[in-house]
Amino acid sequence: MANHLFDAIRNAIPSREKVFIDADDGITWTFGDMLDSSARIANVLRKFGVGAGDRVAAQVEKSAEALMLYLACVRTGAVYLPLNTAYTASELEYFVADAAPKLVVVAPEAAERLQVVVSRAGARLETLGEKAEGTLFEFVADHADNFVDADRKPEDLAAILYTSGTTGRSKGAMLTHDNLLSNALALQAEWHFNNTDRLIHALPLFHAHGLFVAANLTLLSGASMYLLRKFDVDQIFAVLPRATVIMGVPTFYTRLLQDERLTKEATQHMRVFISGSAPLLVDTHRAFFERTGQDILERYGMTETIMITSNPYKGARVPGSVGYALSGVSVRVTDPDTGLSLRAGEPGMVEVRGPNVFKGYWNMPEKTKEEFRSDGFFITGDIGMMEADGRLTIVGRNKDLIISGGYNVYPKEIEQKIDGIEGVVESAVIGLPHPDFGEAVTAVVVTETSANVSEAAIAASVGARLARFKHPKRVILIEDLPRNAMGKVQKNVLRDKYRDLFA
Ligand code: ATP
Ligand code: MG
Repeated sequence: MANHLFDAIRNAIPSREKVFIDADDGITWTFGDMLDSSARIANVLRKFGVGAGDRVAAQVEKSAEALMLYLACVRTGAVYLPLNTAYTASELEYFVADAAPKLVVVAPEAAERLQVVVSRAGARLETLGEKAEGTLFEFVADHADNFVDADRKPEDLAAILYTSGTTGRSKGAMLTHDNLLSNALALQAEWHFNNTDRLIHALPLFHAHGLFVAANLTLLSGASMYLLRKFDVDQIFAVLPRATVIMGVPTFYTRLLQDERLTKEATQHMRVFISGSAPLLVDTHRAFFERTGQDILERYGMTETIMITSNPYKGARVPGSVGYALSGVSVRVTDPDTGLSLRAGEPGMVEVRGPNVFKGYWNMPEKTKEEFRSDGFFITGDIGMMEADGRLTIVGRNKDLIISGGYNVYPKEIEQKIDGIEGVVESAVIGLPHPDFGEAVTAVVVTETSANVSEAAIAASVGARLARFKHPKRVILIEDLPRNAMGKVQKNVLRDKYRDLFA
């Protein structure tokens, strides 16, 4: 029997004794522990009647045990469906009804509240808490630590991962064993991951970044990780001296920069700092380099494709650029309307094809069809520009494109100008309904508390450097930009909030 993903994970194990996870609850997991625990849970899943292709949904706090549940699903051939812990009962109801899982695992304190929702969907409910408390691990103790892995082919599903919901309702991306394996191997080669690496893992486990990029890559490299339940600056500095790699969202880096412990001395032993999931501001990249001498490596990907491009490990990491297509992955930039390839330097739709690209959206055959070209390229919805040598820069999302008075306006260009103004922390440029222009360019800006930058000064500064049709018609100062769990700015929330500004 062959299990495409788990066989590869098993083959990468350096030894049963080697440490796989050093968790912040003080517990250490060796690779042997990982094999035993995932086998036990796999036996429990089988006892529950979970078979190949069945969905297992989990809305649980981050823990090593939650990761074992994921691995147990891979081993039984079940489809793992992790859910953001921030989702409310009614949101969970949507996911459970949509995915029709056989088993739903939730935090012990949520069980009562969710029992009705889960029963209505015909699923079984079990609980798993932060410290392995709950019903699931009560069963686990009685089960054997050996398990014959289910036969799984490269194209069989390993997970359904819901997108972050930045632009609308989350969609369930169906990811196969080979999507996960091929992508982790491509990243391993690109980032020179190996079994001497010790990764700081402070990302959530319900998202592609923390689960597939971070955890699968660690497993497939026989490396180790410091599993931190959340991003906490003190905890980061506590493990930093022993780590070699960190993966983060841009807010990790802005928060580290606010701490005086971030120095050249504290970071010089680190092999690489990786950033993704949202655009890393050029300013953040530069400030981090000035302070530490470390060039943050930015990469780009999405739930539907896992990772697509990366800045080079060796070679120039250009701030503001997301680098080159990973090995085996093809990227092109096209005219959004015609689908025809554009010339180098012209902004257009980023499309991608390769073994990393998902099978489609769960329960959404129409939507799936719309997002693929006839030659198999997936239409990402991101607008990018490609240089002649293949280097990609993301300029924004198609849905964020502003059409004002018939002109296309790319928010990022304006945001970069605003962000460069002394005293500005960050900005989001959005289009709002306008009776004359169709959409009016509007800048929502966060300034430093001590700074004395007025709305008029921002408008004047940008006005002097951009074509008239790109000038913000209004500048609004606010305290914080709305962000989702992955640190992505939710422009739809802003568009909603200021909908009637020009009405
Ligand atoms: P939804 O699809 O539900 O609206 P989402 O697109 O935010 O949400 P994800 O799949 O988590 O959900 O995020 C993928 C998106 O994140 C990409 O399409 C891209 O817009 C953005 N992204 C990821 N990495 C980068 C990066 N390095 N630079 C710019 N954008 C990035
Ligand atoms: Mg998306």
